[in-house]
Amino acid sequence: MKFELTKFEHTKNPDIQWALSELERIKEKAAIAEDENLANNCWRESEALQLTLTYIKAFHKLKNADYREAWYDLEQCEIKCKIIARNSSEEFCLAKNIHFISQQVSNLQSLYPYCVFSSPGMVVGYYSCGICDHKIRPRSRCAHKKGKIYNGKLCVHIAHDIVLKEISIVSKPVQKYSVVHNDETLDFSALQYLMPALEEAFDEWAFIKKTKSFPIDMFSRVDLDSECPCKSGEIFRQCCSNKADVTIPHLEFLLPRAVPNLPKIRFPY
Ligand SMILES: [Zn+2]
Ligand SMILES: [Zn+2]
Repeated sequence: MKFELTKFEHTKNPDIQWALSELERIKEKAAIAEDENLANNCWRESEALQLTLTYIKAFHKLKNADYREAWYDLEQCEIKCKIIARNSSEEFCLAKNIHFISQQVSNLQSLYPYCVFSSPGMVVGYYSCGICDHKIRPRSRCAHKKGKIYNGKLCVHIAHDIVLKEISIVSKPVQKYSVVHNDETLDFSALQYLMPALEEAFDEWAFIKKTKSFPIDMFSRVDLDSECPCKSGEIFRQCCSNKADVTIPHLEFLLPRAVPNLPKIRFPY
């Protein structure tokens, strides 16, 4: 079954939900019959379809400046891309745009101002295999590998007897769902600038991280005891405040088409 799936309107097509439930039905039948190939193919098709749906929805939320909700979708896409790529041929990944989505998700995430996340520290009693229930010990493992597909089912390790020890604040979390920031205090200007220039989730775009220098007079409003605009992490007084020019990070976007009336970016200081 073929349907168009590139725009947000397409995600409402009832045929897509029908296709997902059919894939689930065929997968379960194949799993019972131990037709592993068919079961895994159904899993792959279903995951790729759900990934495309989530990615298009995330793009739509970004267009509507719903940044936090889009962030959660993008994180879901990131995880799905990795699992699909791990369990599929290169040909399949190319046909389903897995690498493209993975790249664009990573690009979009890096335009967010989020940099700290909460991360739970816990002690796990033991893990069991999600496929065969085997209790995993250092010298006793089953034949299943975490993150691989068996008979249409993803192998996960299930944690038992969990004791939560602490919540830490980290900059590189295992998963990026637990954002600590209050969005109202953050600067989303990179996304605010980019999103009006894109029409569809599958538009090709990229950006280059550059730097640009400005005369020191333009930074007269920066508090000497605040973070230096050059983003070195030092305070302004001890960093660039005595230089003639300050070199600050600058993003250059490569867009798919010329966009009239792009918002002018305000000098942030
Ligand atoms: Zn197992
Ligand atoms: Zn500096």
